Amino acid sequence: MELLAAIGDIVDKCDFILGEDVAALEREFADYCGVQHAVGVDSGSSALELALLAAGVGAGHEVITQANTFIATVGAILAVGARPVLVDCDDDGAPDLDQFAAAVSPRTKAMLPVHLFGRVAPLQPLVEIATRAGAVLVEDACQAHGAQVGPRRAGSFGLAAAFSFYPGKNLGAFGDAGMVTTNSSEIAARLRALRNIGQTTKYVHELGPPMNRRLDTLQAAVLRVKLPHLDGWNAARVERAARYREQLAGLPLRLPAPALDGSHVYHLFVIQTERRDGLRNALASAGIATGIHYPIPTHLQPSLSFLGYAPRSFPVTERLATQSLSLPMYPELPLAQIDRVAKLIREYLS
Ligand SMILES: *Cc1c(COP(=O)(O)O)cnc(C)c1O
Repeated sequence: MELLAAIGDIVDKCDFILGEDVAALEREFADYCGVQHAVGVDSGSSALELALLAAGVGAGHEVITQANTFIATVGAILAVGARPVLVDCDDDGAPDLDQFAAAVSPRTKAMLPVHLFGRVAPLQPLVEIATRAGAVLVEDACQAHGAQVGPRRAGSFGLAAAFSFYPGKNLGAFGDAGMVTTNSSEIAARLRALRNIGQTTKYVHELGPPMNRRLDTLQAAVLRVKLPHLDGWNAARVERAARYREQLAGLPLRLPAPALDGSHVYHLFVIQTERRDGLRNALASAGIATGIHYPIPTHLQPSLSFLGYAPRSFPVTERLATQSLSLPMYPELPLAQIDRVAKLIREYLS
C-alpha cells in the first residue's frame, strides 16, 4: 500500500527529523492553499500557538475569538501569555461580527475567527474589523482544509492560519500533526525557528521560548500521499451533505447553513433541534453514533473558569451546546445509511 511504502522509505533512510518529506509537504500544502509559505508543526494546537507567537502576540495583549470553538483555540491564546476575549456566535455558529468589533480594546493584538465545522467564517468583514483595530487576523482553519471563499482557500486570508491533521480532520495524519500557512516571509522564517527550539543556525537559538514543535517526517510522508485525495474526499462530503439536506427537508430542525460564498467542506454535519438529547438516544438505540460539538462551551469549562465568564454570558453559544447534533459524516459514508438516519430522525421528530 502506498502509505506503508512511504513510511518504509523513511525508515530505510532514517530521515526522521525535518526530513525531505516535511519540506515537500510544506511546498505542496502551500500551493494547495494558494499561499507563499507553509510550515509543518506537531499539532493544530501548536500551529495556533506558533502563529500567534510569530505575529508578536504575548503578555499584555488581548486576542478575540468565539466562545463556541474547540477549547484548543483558547488554549493557544493562553499559551502565548495573552488574554482570550470571548464573543458569541450567530445562530449558525459563525462569529458575531458586531460582537467582534465591540470587543476591540487598546490591548487587542489579534483576532482568531474559527472556520467551524468546515464553513468559512465571514473573512472579508473580519479582515476589515481587524485592520480598523490595528490587529492581525489569524485563521483557525483546523476544520476547513480546502474550503473556499470564491476562488481562494481557507488559510490564505489572515496574516497566518493554523491547520490540524489530527486523524479525524478532513486531512488526517497517522497521529498528531499540524501546519501554519502564511504569505509573509518574515512570519514563515520565525515559524521555522520557533518550531525548532528557536534555532536559526545550529546551536544559535535566537527566538523563544525554546520548544520542540516539529512535524515528524513520517507524518509528512503520510500526508503527502493523502493530500492529492483531499478535494475528492471533500466533494464526497458535500455530496453527502446534499443528501442529508434533501432527506431532512421540511422537518422541525435547523440544517447547517450553507457556505457564505464558496464551499463548505463539512468537517461535521451539525443539525439543531430542541429535542436533541431524545433524538440522540433514539439514534443510539438504532446503532447510529452521533456527536456533540461541543457539549460544554469554552467559557464554562472548569480549566477556563478563571477567565470569569458566568453562565448566560453567551446565550447563542450556550443554546447551541444543548441543541447541536453532529450526524455521521465521512467521505465513504454510504448514501443508503444517510437515508436510514434521516428516516429515523423523521420518525422521532414527527
Ligand atoms: C482540532 C482543532 C484544533 C486543535 O488541533 P490539534 O491538532 O488537535 O491540536 C484547534 N482548533 C479547532 C477548531 C480544531 O478543530
